Amino acid sequence: MSRLVAVSNRVAVPRSGKSPGGLAVGLLAAFQHQGGLWFGWSGKTVDDTPGVARVSTTGNVRVATIDLNKDDFAGYYAGFSNNSLWPLLHFMPGYFSYSRSDHDAYWRVNRLFAERLVPLLEADDLIWVHDYQLFPLGQALRDVGVDRPLGFFLHVPFPGFNVLKVLPRYEELLRAISAYDVVGVQTEPDAKALRECYEQPEIGGEVFDDGRVRAFGRTFRVAAFPIGIDVEQCRTLSVENLNRPQVQRFEVSLRNRKLIIGVDRLDYSKGLELRFRAYECLLENYPHLRGHVAFMQIAPPTRSEVAAYMTIRNELEQTAGNINGRFAEVDWVPIRYLNRAYDRSLLMALFRLAGVGLVTPIRDGMNLVAKEYVASQDPRDPGVLVLSKLAGAAIELSVGAVLVNPYDREGVAEGLERAISMPLAERRERHRAMIQVLERNDIHAWCRRFLDALGRVSGVGAKPSAMHSR
Ligand code: ADP
Repeated sequence: MSRLVAVSNRVAVPRSGKSPGGLAVGLLAAFQHQGGLWFGWSGKTVDDTPGVARVSTTGNVRVATIDLNKDDFAGYYAGFSNNSLWPLLHFMPGYFSYSRSDHDAYWRVNRLFAERLVPLLEADDLIWVHDYQLFPLGQALRDVGVDRPLGFFLHVPFPGFNVLKVLPRYEELLRAISAYDVVGVQTEPDAKALRECYEQPEIGGEVFDDGRVRAFGRTFRVAAFPIGIDVEQCRTLSVENLNRPQVQRFEVSLRNRKLIIGVDRLDYSKGLELRFRAYECLLENYPHLRGHVAFMQIAPPTRSEVAAYMTIRNELEQTAGNINGRFAEVDWVPIRYLNRAYDRSLLMALFRLAGVGLVTPIRDGMNLVAKEYVASQDPRDPGVLVLSKLAGAAIELSVGAVLVNPYDREGVAEGLERAISMPLAERRERHRAMIQVLERNDIHAWCRRFLDALGRVSGVGAKPSAMHSR
């Protein structure tokens, strides 16, 4: 059996006592079956040229990490990945900024990843690269002679060509993607949008009926592989952690009020400001709910080196203060806003306590929180998921979620009111429908499907050839 080599910006091998997150759970499950190597950035930066990879072993996973040069890292990560690619991929050109030196650093870091990875590769490895920070890694590997099947999975959305072309040198990116054999995205609309980019006259590629694309002299598959969660793990954690003193204290503090929960990284794509305003609208339009609901938003800051993230942090604090100031009573605070990360097991227990899961990104590749919320519910008395139509998860979870448009604050408030007052029978029915979907396509199934698709390329992978002539 081939060895799996996974490459991601960060390597997320769980520390003892911590439960791993979505991607880590999936990759660790795949590694269990066939062993493998996980390669990524160590989390450290250095002033000069970084050395070779450090390799350690956890179970049957070899973990190899490299340091990155401080300036290159700033250009690659905060610069090009998060100031240029992230906003464009999330259809938000308003947040887009660009510099050539960041763009060059992005490619330099990807080439360094390739150079440091190659000495660790074995003849029949299946190489699976993850996410937008590493689009060019496939091409960088081809350039140093790797002709093994290469897979790539994009965890975030893919916009249409009209948005992509805001990016200077976007053709380079499309060419880099064509170096892979299987390109996985979260949803069918993402796959369609990516394929269509190759059909543009300036690219001159071709899309076949089976979803394969021919461009830049290569033929590769573009397909949707919606990422799942470990349903069983969420369920178990949610039950096992209910008795923790912290959870019990929290439950007492709710005093039987209906809990609405939101859990997100503090990111402008998550629509938190609009969400707070929609909750305010709920309190305005349904005054009988005042004092009877509690909204808890957990949002740990991320990417604080990027200016836009500092701005939304300040704005949200103001908005939460504003709404609390307007509606609070001596014994009731409308919004509990917590700016920190919690361990996964605690989160699953909090999800179980919440009668409503409020997940309203203005754009999201999938949104695992939506799926985790559903998996953590008590099937006998489940809560209701209020979900943005603009999250990838809405495609699978439309069978049971209350779908809303996050820009329509009255509409979100209506969705919340509907969720809060929904009868038990309807809640059970919606939950059952969603759980079936989640169990059918859990994280293990996702991993298997992708690796099967990549395995099928083995030995017949298209070799790089001359540039496409059109
Ligand atoms: P994104 O990948 O954009 O952050 P997702 O919803 O797809 O969004 O995945 C987020 C993951 O991070 C989920 O597994 C979720 O449980 C976890 N997470 C989100 N917020 C927190 C938090 N405050 N503390 C701990 N884990 C969190």
